[in-house]
Amino acid sequence: MEQQKRIGIIGGGLAGIFAARQLLAEGYAVEVIEKSQSVGGRMATRRINQGTADHGAVFFTVRTDELAQEVDEWLEKGWIRKWFGDDFPRYIAVNGMNQLVQSIANEIPVYLNEQVEQIISDEPGLQTISSEQTRTYDAILVTAPVPQAYDLFKASPLTLVETDHARLEKVTFEPTFVGLFELQEAFDIGEFGLLDEGLVSGMLKIVNNAQKEVSTTPLLSVYMTGDWSEAWYDKGEDKTLTEIEQLLQKQLGPVKIISKQLKRWRYAQARDVFHTPYLKLDRHPVWLAGDAFLDPQDTSGRTRVESAVISGLRVAAALDTHFKQLTNV
Ligand SMILES: Cc1cc2nc3c(=O)[nH]c(=O)nc-3n(C[C@H](O)[C@H](O)[C@H](O)COP(=O)(O)OP(=O)(O)OC[C@H]3O[C@@H](n4cnc5c(N)ncnc54)[C@H](O)[C@@H]3O)c2cc1C
Repeated sequence: MEQQKRIGIIGGGLAGIFAARQLLAEGYAVEVIEKSQSVGGRMATRRINQGTADHGAVFFTVRTDELAQEVDEWLEKGWIRKWFGDDFPRYIAVNGMNQLVQSIANEIPVYLNEQVEQIISDEPGLQTISSEQTRTYDAILVTAPVPQAYDLFKASPLTLVETDHARLEKVTFEPTFVGLFELQEAFDIGEFGLLDEGLVSGMLKIVNNAQKEVSTTPLLSVYMTGDWSEAWYDKGEDKTLTEIEQLLQKQLGPVKIISKQLKRWRYAQARDVFHTPYLKLDRHPVWLAGDAFLDPQDTSGRTRVESAVISGLRVAAALDTHFKQLTNV
């Protein structure tokens, strides 16, 4: 009997979790390795005192039948709800975006707090090396943001050919800083709790997590633009947070802030994207997927929740085809 193929997935964000779920359903032995203490990646939520704030993805929209089907199920299970909008409604997760991914990943084997530092070719398979563990697989899928994936490959004794370098070099990501501010009193931001127009220079959007019904306390997530975040990247946390607070006061007028925190995303959004839903390294059974790998049908041109989901599903299908072709040879 053919031995079950082992697939290691580096990164427990949406792309990794959707790929894992699909491959498990196809009968593969799948493990997700995640460096953080929880799955979710940029679907990120922080508890602050009695409140809750999303500080990565704010909402998601749906253009594909595949995500629409998932959304119907999640609505039925009460995991998400429609926030607002008619043509392309904006959906949010009722207990914060991170909890949605945790719910989806419930039955997937995941190793948390494990950062893969190297991938080693152990023909015909591969090994992942972290400070604590060595794991052996027939194929590896990397779903870290492309610059992090490329750094991992360069730190590994793998053979990268010129086309691998050319493709991976071309995609850069921009940072996003998010200030999290707990207010003393409720303060409405527009009708739904989202302000993304007419903002002071450097500010991208303000989200009120209480109006989003994610938080029981008034918690604002203040998203700064990529250019602003880049310019402030090395200026120190306290100074940066004070500056965001001043800009917030300028925008909203005086508000009483009782606590504040900063989240610095080094790799928030891709500046350029691939118009292919995944890549494979030329010389190794190593695949790459994630939000920067867009389906050719995706005309949005942007990294987003849906692009991560679709990339995860497409790469899982590609891995399945790969192994089926090998067994038919
Ligand atoms: C501030 C911000 C706001 C956003 N707003 C929206 C929005 O409103 N709507 C929308 O649709 N999208 C939004 N997005 C984009 C959306 O969150 C992403 O497109 C999507 O979540 C990416 O999923 P992913 O699986 O491709 O990557 P990620 O979520 O980044 O997952 C990659 C995972 O790999 C892990 N990892 C990396 N390296 C290693 C390693 N060496 N070993 C082990 N694990 C590793 C990381 O910890 C991470 O969990 C936003 C993103 C940010 C940052």
